[in-house]
Amino acid sequence: MKIMVSACLLGDNVKYDGNNNYNQELINFLKDHEIIKVCPELLGGLPTPRKPSEILHDKVIDIDGSDVTKEFTEGALKTLEIAKENDIKVAILKRNSPSCGFNAIYDGTFTHTITNGNGITADLLSKNGIKVLNEDNYREYFKRRGIESKDKDFIIKKLCELKYNNKNLTLPLGWKKDGEPIYRDFTNISGLFITGSTGSGKSVFIDDLIVSLIYKNTSEEVKFIMFDPKKIELGEYDGIKHLLIGKAQSSLKKGYDSLIFILKVLESRINTLNKTKNSSIEMYNQRNEEKWPHIFIFIDEGSNLIKMKDAHLALSKILDYGTKVGIHLIYATNAYLKDYASSRFIDKFQYRMSFDLASEEQEKFLNIEKSSLLKQGEALIKNRNGEIFKIHAPLVTDEEINEVVVKNIEVE
Ligand code: SF4
Repeated sequence: MKIMVSACLLGDNVKYDGNNNYNQELINFLKDHEIIKVCPELLGGLPTPRKPSEILHDKVIDIDGSDVTKEFTEGALKTLEIAKENDIKVAILKRNSPSCGFNAIYDGTFTHTITNGNGITADLLSKNGIKVLNEDNYREYFKRRGIESKDKDFIIKKLCELKYNNKNLTLPLGWKKDGEPIYRDFTNISGLFITGSTGSGKSVFIDDLIVSLIYKNTSEEVKFIMFDPKKIELGEYDGIKHLLIGKAQSSLKKGYDSLIFILKVLESRINTLNKTKNSSIEMYNQRNEEKWPHIFIFIDEGSNLIKMKDAHLALSKILDYGTKVGIHLIYATNAYLKDYASSRFIDKFQYRMSFDLASEEQEKFLNIEKSSLLKQGEALIKNRNGEIFKIHAPLVTDEEINEVVVKNIEVE
């Protein structure tokens, strides 16, 4: 696989001060891959050494106050050109840099303070469907994507196109041992609880659901709210039209605010249904010209969020009334929940799914038996009737994710 990498991480003395950010561990990891090395700032015509620069109000300013936005933009465009020529799908770039940083950058005060935001090059690559990682999070990403597919052709698009699977919210969960695909209609599911350790397959499964929903629904029919404190899994969908709030939320405060917002939507929908004498979103949408979209809340690692005041109550209410008003919660965690969530909360989820069971206690708490668990990508699913079945989750390819993101990105 070809991977684009910041030249300074490979030991080239291209930093503003003439030094580098040599990273031996990254270099070891990259030895089995073809590397495309770039330094966007040099590509933009800047010299080494040069004045340090930071992004302030969408401009790149150096420490002497000169505007170097033009050079940084030029460097980003040249980097994108190189990425396209080399068919790059993944880039590992230096964190926090005004060119290479992604999700976090220096805040423009030259005080070593970090804020949310993207460097000029990282932002452009990401908007063009390239997965941008940094020296801290690449291991987790590649571990996650190392999951083997039983049948590489068994991809989400194909599953979504199978003709008997024509309902918009009927989504493929995976296939049984004999290869038969399994679908579930999420119209009737307000909650799916997913557990499993890092690398066991739960994040790929969340990608499966998201990509399936995008293949089968327009952004008028389905909306998403995403919470991803690790900033690695769901950020790849930032900016797509299906997002109700423009990007995956990573701060606890914003995640919590989104949850309270969605609770208000839920309460308002219940009031409207009562007033208009409709029993469900389906009936309401049949009778009214203005349709309500189904809203899917994806929480990838919610163990801290759920500890916040009233978050537990909000999630419980969504689980209780979600199917009636078209709000669905997909809640994934690798943390054992005994300390802060009651088993009654877990019981509210119609489906509980485990990609592995870290401890006997967890096994008991989730009330799922270990049985022959589990190879990577395999999971046990238990529904409220106590029925347990084993699936192998389908592979969602990077190409599929890129395809849906690029096609559905909101043009500013
Ligand atoms: Fe490193 Fe990127 Fe800065 Fe070049 S532009 S020195 S590659 S962080």
